[in-house]
Amino acid sequence: MIVGRINTTISSDACACYLRDAETGHYQLLTADGLITDAFGKARMRQQDGLVDWIAAHEEAVNLASPADHPGFHHSLEIAAEGFQAFLGAPIIHHRRVLAILVARKIEKRRFDDNETAFFITLATQLGGAVNHLLVKWDVGRQLIGSSLGRMVVRGISCAPGITSGVITLAQPADLQSTPDYPALDIDMEEAAFRAAVAAAKQELLSSRERMRPDLPGEVLALFDVTVLMLDSDKLNSGTIARIRAGQWARGALSDTVLELVQIFQRIDDPYIAAKAEDIRNVGRHILSHLQENIPPSGKYPKQCILAGADLSLAEISGVPRDLLVGIICSNGSTLSHIAIVARALGIPAVMGLGDLPIAYLEGCEVIADGDKGIVCINPSAGDWIEFKQRMIEEQAISARLETLKDLPAETGDGVRIPLHVNLGIDADDFSTSAGDYEGVGLYRTEFFFLSRETLPTENEQYRLYRNLLETFAPKPVTIRTLDTGADKALPFFFINEANPFLGLRGIRFTLDHPEIFITQLRALLRANFGLHNLQVIFPMISRISEIDQTIDLLERAYQELMMEGRPALKPRLGAMIEVPSAVYSIAALSERVDFFSIGTNDLTQYLLAVDRNNPRVQGFYDNLHPAVIHVVHDIVARAHRCKKTVGVCGEMAGDPASALLLLGMGVDSLSMNPSYLPRVKWTIRSFTKQQARGLSEKALTVENETDIVDLLNAALVEAGLGVLIRGPGNK
Ligand code: PEP
Ligand code: MG
Repeated sequence: MIVGRINTTISSDACACYLRDAETGHYQLLTADGLITDAFGKARMRQQDGLVDWIAAHEEAVNLASPADHPGFHHSLEIAAEGFQAFLGAPIIHHRRVLAILVARKIEKRRFDDNETAFFITLATQLGGAVNHLLVKWDVGRQLIGSSLGRMVVRGISCAPGITSGVITLAQPADLQSTPDYPALDIDMEEAAFRAAVAAAKQELLSSRERMRPDLPGEVLALFDVTVLMLDSDKLNSGTIARIRAGQWARGALSDTVLELVQIFQRIDDPYIAAKAEDIRNVGRHILSHLQENIPPSGKYPKQCILAGADLSLAEISGVPRDLLVGIICSNGSTLSHIAIVARALGIPAVMGLGDLPIAYLEGCEVIADGDKGIVCINPSAGDWIEFKQRMIEEQAISARLETLKDLPAETGDGVRIPLHVNLGIDADDFSTSAGDYEGVGLYRTEFFFLSRETLPTENEQYRLYRNLLETFAPKPVTIRTLDTGADKALPFFFINEANPFLGLRGIRFTLDHPEIFITQLRALLRANFGLHNLQVIFPMISRISEIDQTIDLLERAYQELMMEGRPALKPRLGAMIEVPSAVYSIAALSERVDFFSIGTNDLTQYLLAVDRNNPRVQGFYDNLHPAVIHVVHDIVARAHRCKKTVGVCGEMAGDPASALLLLGMGVDSLSMNPSYLPRVKWTIRSFTKQQARGLSEKALTVENETDIVDLLNAALVEAGLGVLIRGPGNK
């Protein structure tokens, strides 16, 4: 359609789009419009076949009145019988790869004018995503024709370590728009399924009408009858069945038919009739939901469930019973998205950023998800299974080795101990069983408790949670972070509409904006600390001194209130997160107000490098080991120590063995990480001396590129016999 419209709009005589096969260097006509000749359209071209290949090689557009004068011109191919003269061509690029070339030609010997060229090039630059999506879909579709989907390996981003296998379960059933186009494998079965779904939808409606009869007036009840009539409509039924008989599966046939009817109604210039479009869409959705009955949330999950979706929510993850959920795959998301952090905390391998993979096609497929390498293998071959089993054996060997370190301290070869704490909060109260294994809690993220509910928790509910946590770990220190909501952790019951939420009302900005929420939390914390004295409270997203001053004022107010009410309370030690670059330069002033610091490397990296931690498109730019990050962490440690304050790291960087080694060398006082990473970091610390770690960090500070820092650290790990630990987020 686009090629056709371009051809009309810029008055060319022919317009075409050629797909480029990167492996073979061949080009193949995707589509063409206008005066099509063999030379123009049908030829399957080889590499270096003229202007099309020139555009791909140079990644730039050309606009030529007389193409024969151009160095890329190839005589035998481009002298078309019809005598095309003017040539306009542009590459279609997706993620730096030339996927296709768009070409327009004219018989008249004149350059395309500026308006035509601008229009043409603008469209070409926009088509990368669409062409890529089409290619991936075709890849899956081609394999589906005739039989079941074959083996397919897709690369994404490694978001939670470990390797796993299971059956893909869609978190959200497809809606009408996103229902994929399967061919019907058994036409009669698809037709029967469709008829049964219509009958079930009808039955459901009739039962609801009966249930509601006492409560609704007759004219409203009549709406049910209208909907039943729509379910019976010939256009809907015969349209869908005709599509099924033509070879489409029931869900696709239904979706296409409904969307076509919706469009017809929407075009009618009468608001009453146009509104009918919505009713038809709803009827379509209702039938579709019956066709999808085998998909959760009907409550049935396979034994080895790999939860999949374009995006996943916390509710969807927690909806799957823990003993069944073995993996997560997601077309969006990246290492630092909170879903990735949740997956790591749960110890579930996760691969995200799978881009254009049409996950909706893959329901029920067997899959191996490799969270270490960021690879997903759909319908694995016998060879894949052998490799998988081998990896599982290796994993078990590492686990056995780590188990032997369980009761040993995190102490370097030259006797320096570094406290290793854990990050908790994802699973609100799942900490009691393992508390004895840890030296304390370095970060308790309270927001997940808020996020898992439909209303704000009361002071007493919060008090019980914090008290339980403090008692479980007492006398070990427990660092509880006040509510860090906003951006990708928006409260489900508190809607904030922002164009740029990561730079918006996040963390301390939100809680200071809502003292009624903040004071309730502070009161609960002060009460929980009474008699235990192991609480440390840390404040997120501090970016200016006034925020900490206002926070301390509120804390004091909460404390005085409790005193006046005669309620036992105890002030905790206070800390500030250093995760916004401005806070780095406020450390001296902050030191006069708080007792300790903790570096949130996840956000600090995001804000320092101007890279959205959730955006898979820029994941390649997000790097904890970027020299600027190393320098800033080094600077923070020096500034904090000058002020005689301790400084820990609680971002994901602390849980990566190579990065932890670097942080140790830079003099960080403690590391806090997801519990599942702790044994590997302990193994690393015990394998080096502090002196060696310092030497490595000094060297790292002189390096210009992150890849050289990674190489430096990885070489050190290999030399110490820890090559198996080289992987995982934060160390790309
Ligand atoms: C951080 O930013 O490093 C951090 C620990 O906080 P969160 O990941 O919850 O934003
Ligand atoms: Mg943060």
